[in-house]
Amino acid sequence: MKIVRICIVLSVLLAVSIARAEKISLVGATVINPADGKVLPNATVVINGDKIERVAMGKQDAATLGKQVNCVGKFILPGYIDTHVHFFQSADLFTRPDGADFNSVRPYKDEVAWIKSHLDDVFARYIRSGITSVVDVGGPMWNFEVRKTANATAKAPRVAVAGPLISSVSREKLDLGDPPIVKIDTPDQAREFVRKLADQKPDLVKIWYIVDKDHPVDSFRPIARATIEESHAHKIRVAVHATELETARAAVEEGADVLVHSVIDKPVDDAFVKLLKDRHIILCPTLVVFERYGRTFSQQLNLTPEEEKWGNPAVIASLDVTKIPQDKLPQRVKDALTDPKAALDRIKKTYDVALPNLKKLEDAGVTIAAGTDAGNIGTIHGPALFREFQLMKEAGLTPMQILQCATANAAKLFGGETGARIGKLENGYFADLVILNSNPVDDIAHASDIDTVMKNGVAYPADSILR
Ligand SMILES: [Zn+2]
Repeated sequence: MKIVRICIVLSVLLAVSIARAEKISLVGATVINPADGKVLPNATVVINGDKIERVAMGKQDAATLGKQVNCVGKFILPGYIDTHVHFFQSADLFTRPDGADFNSVRPYKDEVAWIKSHLDDVFARYIRSGITSVVDVGGPMWNFEVRKTANATAKAPRVAVAGPLISSVSREKLDLGDPPIVKIDTPDQAREFVRKLADQKPDLVKIWYIVDKDHPVDSFRPIARATIEESHAHKIRVAVHATELETARAAVEEGADVLVHSVIDKPVDDAFVKLLKDRHIILCPTLVVFERYGRTFSQQLNLTPEEEKWGNPAVIASLDVTKIPQDKLPQRVKDALTDPKAALDRIKKTYDVALPNLKKLEDAGVTIAAGTDAGNIGTIHGPALFREFQLMKEAGLTPMQILQCATANAAKLFGGETGARIGKLENGYFADLVILNSNPVDDIAHASDIDTVMKNGVAYPADSILR
């Protein structure tokens, strides 16, 4: 009871004091800085406007602290960063008609209209989850509007964004005039498209490097090379979707800066690990997304309590495939319902490769940035990050390593001037932070035990955010 009362006092104090934009100090908490793994007991975080002015241990001169907020018993971390989301997807059942076509249940244009009208809701769900910055790794040109809107909205994460995905394949069902995926056939086309994107100042250019029997690794390689060269000429980094070892290797050899998803077809070899280290590649594993299509379609969805509580209820309700009339179920879903064990077997096979690969890359010192691929069917915007943490733990990462992936490392993927001022609790950094009730270094599950989220110096008592 006493703990509950302290939380309320802390939350109220923060809300009141910061509304007045005065200097405030969070006093007496344990400060966790995953960037260097340091844990500072009895620390004081001084916040002046939207920036951290000072982080110090021990007793401080009260005259320099402004308004003091007692945070004894709390744990303060940099705000989490999800480095792989897609705002053009809602995570509901109807959001990827190219993968499972439910147009006869809900036309895709209605789905897109709903998504565009619910951006504020999605932003708030990130803040509720302690996520104060996200990277949208590809979507339609209106993604650039999303970035603008988010960055002008107080209760929203900071947003970095890539434009449409450059790919060897097209996805007609997603094309309503502003497609998220653009098929590029020649190096010249690639250069021209990158120049068009560069006008919008993307934070990243994204290549969707899809390989199958009709699209071998080498046939797309000259296009990948041209895309990367032209992007680098405009000082834009390139992220590549590559899930096979040889595709990922080709992408890095051609100059990619970021690999998204995991290598899932075979164990990574030492030469690949060395290549990633030598080239200072950042890899974002997005483990959670690998289970969510199969689990949704086979009616075996394993949403976490965080997702159930903080995900959008309409999105979650849609994921029950048994509510869809039989004759309107896509074949892929019918098959999954007929043989649910096969879906789980496929997921296990993926994790049997992806999890050890993550551990090997982490142990070798490759920069790993946490990310979920939220927005894909069943991967819930905001709290999906906590399922990602569970899977990173299963891979063998320590809580501190996971927190580093979700803060300091993720800030590197975010990039730019903002990326250089997020992900750490240090002087001059943005006052984006999470105040927890229990210690995430003891158990990563505590990372979601959130009392208050602060973004840009404005504090949001966790329980008030989604009201
Ligand atoms: Zn993605």
